[in-house]
Amino acid sequence: MIQLIRGFKDILPGEVEIWQQIESVARQLLEDFGFKEIRIPVMERTELFARSIGEDTDIVEKEMYTFPDRKGDLITLRPEATASIARAYIQHKLFAQDPVQKFYMIGPMFRRERPQKGRYRQFYQIDAEIFGVQSGLADAQLIYLLVTLFTRLELADINAHINSLGCPQCRPDFRKALTRYLVSVSDRLCSDCNRRRDRNPLRVLDCKVPTCREALTDAPSIQDSLCDDCRADFDEVMSALDNLNVPFVVDKRLVRGLDYYTRTAFEIQTTSLGAQSAVAGGGRYDNLVRELGGPDIPATGFAIGFDRLAELFGLNAPDMIPRPDIFLAALGAESQALAFEWVCLLGKSGIRAEMDMGAKSLKSQMKRADRLGAANVLIVGENELKEAAVILRNMATKEQEAVPIDRLVENLKKRFNK
Ligand code: ATP
Ligand code: MG
Repeated sequence: MIQLIRGFKDILPGEVEIWQQIESVARQLLEDFGFKEIRIPVMERTELFARSIGEDTDIVEKEMYTFPDRKGDLITLRPEATASIARAYIQHKLFAQDPVQKFYMIGPMFRRERPQKGRYRQFYQIDAEIFGVQSGLADAQLIYLLVTLFTRLELADINAHINSLGCPQCRPDFRKALTRYLVSVSDRLCSDCNRRRDRNPLRVLDCKVPTCREALTDAPSIQDSLCDDCRADFDEVMSALDNLNVPFVVDKRLVRGLDYYTRTAFEIQTTSLGAQSAVAGGGRYDNLVRELGGPDIPATGFAIGFDRLAELFGLNAPDMIPRPDIFLAALGAESQALAFEWVCLLGKSGIRAEMDMGAKSLKSQMKRADRLGAANVLIVGENELKEAAVILRNMATKEQEAVPIDRLVENLKKRFNK
C-alpha cells in the first residue's frame, strides 16, 4: 500500500470543518480590516527565497524543497509567502497608484524539517502583509488583528511577545556586543550556533536547542542598543497596544528566523501546544522590497501557523461534522425512484438529503440514518404511495406525521426555511 510522504498529511472530514470555520472567520476579519486576497504560485525561482530569506537561515540552509525542473531551472516549493507577495507587488507595479496596499493569502508552505507534532513538511499559513506604511501603527494594527482573531475563535492562553530588531544603523552595535557574548559561551552552544556566530549572530537567539537557550540567559538585550528612531518607533507600537488594551510582553530574545526583518518583530505564543509554542509570527521588513529590485517601500506582515491554530481550536471545539437534514428511506422500486428524484431536488434547494441507492431493508436504512445523525427520516413505502402521503419522523423527538406527496419538496423547503 502506498502511504503519503513523511511530514505530509491528509486533512479528513471531521477535521476539515475546523479548518473551514477558522478560514471563514479569518477571511471576514482580514477583509473587514481592508486586506485583499492575493494568490501566488506554490513554486518560485530558488533565487527569490535565497535572496530574501537569507543564506544563513534554517530555511535556506536545510529546509527548502529545491530541485531542477526538466530544463534545469532551479525552482523551490514556497517555504513562506512574504517573498512571493513582495515579488508580485514589485512585478505588477502594485505600488504605482498607491504604495499602501494590504494583502492576505491562505495556503500551503513547504519546509523539509524534522516532522513532529505541530511541525509538518507541508503546512498551511494565513498570511497578511501591509506595504507602504512606515509607522509602527501598522505593526500595532497587525498584532491587534491577530489578538482579535484568536479572541473571536475563543482561544484563551494566547500571549503576544514583541521586540524590536533595530535597523541597519543600530543593529551593528548590538551584533558586536552579542558576538562578544557568544564567544564567551561558545563551549555551551551547538555547532550550528557556533558556525552562525560570526555571520548571523542574531539567529543564535532563535535556536531551539535547550542548552543553547540556557547559555543565552544573560545575553545582551537589543532593547539596550536601539537608536533614537527605533526607540521612538517601538514606543509608538507599545503605546498603541496599550491604548487598544492588548496585553503584551517585551521579549528581548525574540528574533525572526528570516533575514529581512527590521524593527518590530512579534510572535503569538501559547502554552497549550507543548514544544511548538508559536502560533503566529511576523514583523517589519523595511528593506525587502528594495532588495528585490523594487522602490524603497517599507512593509510589515505576519504569518499564522494554520495547523497549530486548528489544533488549538480543535482542543475544545464541538463536533462539527455536518449531518443530513433528512434521510429518505425508500422501499420498492417505485418508491426508490421517487426518493431519488426528491433527494436531488432537495439538495438543489439547500436541504441536506441522503438515501440508500440500493435495495436495502427498512431496518438497515433506519440504522444508516441513525449513523449519519440525520435530523429527520422520510419513510417512502408502497403503503405511503397508495395513500399519497409519506411519513416524516423527527429523530430527536420521535414524533411522526404524514406529509402529502403532492408538492413534497416545496413543503419541506418551507419547513426547513429554504
Ligand atoms: P518555528 O519557530 O516554530 O520554527 P518559524 O519561526 O520557523 O517557527 P515562521 O517562518 O515565522 O515560523 O512561520 C510562521 C508560523 O508558521 C509559525 O509561528 C508556526 O506557527 C508556523 N509554522 C512554521 N513552520 C511550521 C511547520 N513546519 N509546521 C507547521 N507550522 C509551522
Ligand atoms: Mg522554523
